[in-house]
Amino acid sequence: MTPRYVSTRAAHAHEHTGVSFAEALQTGLAPDGGLFVPDSVPALPSDWRDADSVADVGRRVLPRWLSAEVEPDTLAALVTDALSFPIPLVPLAGMGPDGVRYDGIYVLELIHGPTLSFKDVGARTMARLLAYFRQEMEATDDLTILVATSGDTGSAVADGFAGRPGLRVVLLYPEGQVSPVQQRQLDVQRPGVQTFAVRGTFDDCQRLVKAAFADPALAEVPLSSANSINIGRLLPQMLYYPWAFVQGKGAQGGFDAANVCVPSGNLGNLTGGVLSSLAGLPVRRFLAAHNANGFFPNYLADDRDEPGSFPPSVRTPSNAMDVGAPSNFERLRMLLGAEGLRECVWGTSVGDEVTLDRLRHAYEATGYLACPHTSVGLEAVLRYRAETGDTTPTVVLATAHPAKFPEVVQQALPSLPAPTAPALEALRDAPKAVQPLDATSAALRAALLA
Ligand SMILES: *Cc1c(COP(=O)(O)O)cnc(C)c1O
Repeated sequence: MTPRYVSTRAAHAHEHTGVSFAEALQTGLAPDGGLFVPDSVPALPSDWRDADSVADVGRRVLPRWLSAEVEPDTLAALVTDALSFPIPLVPLAGMGPDGVRYDGIYVLELIHGPTLSFKDVGARTMARLLAYFRQEMEATDDLTILVATSGDTGSAVADGFAGRPGLRVVLLYPEGQVSPVQQRQLDVQRPGVQTFAVRGTFDDCQRLVKAAFADPALAEVPLSSANSINIGRLLPQMLYYPWAFVQGKGAQGGFDAANVCVPSGNLGNLTGGVLSSLAGLPVRRFLAAHNANGFFPNYLADDRDEPGSFPPSVRTPSNAMDVGAPSNFERLRMLLGAEGLRECVWGTSVGDEVTLDRLRHAYEATGYLACPHTSVGLEAVLRYRAETGDTTPTVVLATAHPAKFPEVVQQALPSLPAPTAPALEALRDAPKAVQPLDATSAALRAALLA
């Protein structure tokens, strides 16, 4: 039996039959405002360690989740096409000027997809699944994916969904408020994607998206979203965890079991890892690495079941993790329970200055250049080791390529040339397609109906 999906807010989950994956994927949020969680977690197949790529992990694992809804051959082809880039595990070694040893830390590089962040994994797979279900339903109207973005998510979604039959993407970003690299990634022309530079803030963009979903004048336009609460992004985000362990077994100083450190904001990445662990992956402990937005580590350190109120978000050099109220917190608590969460997950909050210091020290000690998000992860591992004395090998997820954040890297390492990546250089001369948009519902409505 493949899982059904129930709301985190359903009073008695076992009394509900739940919805199919296809329905959870297309509706995003449950009707009661909760998040969809699977009503069971299929065990990893016994041959998962034989996988030879992350796509191969997907071909082995996902049928256990989706065979009731997607033809096995179609699913295999879809996963192979979505996960077509390498996700290598890189061992670190060396001692820094601060006396810190990096041996036993392995970086899982989720940074080699088309937009150079881990979000490519979820977005590319979700887009293909969505296109498949729309075709199966013989939907006649294009489904419009409406996304407000402050950076990373927008380009991953635009790139992952571009050119998928039956899907159109409308992207809103605040004009002049994204970094030069992000702007280059957002503005590039893509088939089936319309990008708008909104004359306003990111909050304005989010307000416009919300208003569009409630706008009766748009009732005839099928709208959907692709944010990190969608189950369609979570399932693919399980797959690289087993892939890290497959590579870890063969690595220098190889391991069978490990801790896994996840640089976190909305906790969607970590939730994917927890699902893999519930499926039987031998993760000893998860380390949730947050920047100055420390709601979750504070919750873990507290011993109350109910969280306090969510603080407003603050801006940091690891801006893709600038989240005050992590959306997947509700899901994690449902999957593990408050007590289970504290057993499985250790967390810490890393300030801006320490993030830059760690980026520099790690580079000087090991030659490894991390992005600011990955640097928060490295700092978390070292703190965890110092606090607990636990020497279990630890996998740190690298969530973005340093070339996406040249300003921060140069601030930490002024003598180093700004990092670059071919995927970003290629965008310099690519044709752009971006239009200005007033921050009003009327302007967005006109654009959506055009
Ligand atoms: C989105 C993002 C994160 C945070 O992931 P969550 O699933 O929201 O916890 C971390 N690093 C980078 C580079 C990201 O783009």
